[in-house]
Amino acid sequence: MTTITEPRITTPEIASCPPWCVTDHTGDYVGDLIHRGGAAVMSVPKESARPGDGSPRQIPQLSAHVLTPEFADDSEAEPMVVVDLGDMWGPYAELDLEQTGEFIRQGRAFLARLEQIREQLAAALKEQS
Ligand SMILES: [Zn+2]
Repeated sequence: MTTITEPRITTPEIASCPPWCVTDHTGDYVGDLIHRGGAAVMSVPKESARPGDGSPRQIPQLSAHVLTPEFADDSEAEPMVVVDLGDMWGPYAELDLEQTGEFIRQGRAFLARLEQIREQLAAALKEQS
């Protein structure tokens, strides 16, 4: 059994959040906070999503936000960017500043390639008509 000695935050004003934090810390423990910024989300149009292997239909998406743990023991207090697949309980990545820059470069290359693929689709549709 774990005994928690830190007091819980009862009002959001008690938490001293960075200006970008959008988390409601009511009920969190003082000294055991995770400040979380608003997310950047990229997803496909909802109507285009298809179920896979009989699982419920989920919309493929990619989500990223900045996160700063504020733990009492200060052991994991490095700010980071967390990237996940839109499911905070699913697989995710923790990126530092350099890794975030590399991920952005990959994203730009992905979008450039996606533009080429869209042009291929347009050409294929034109051939069919
Ligand atoms: Zn916060």
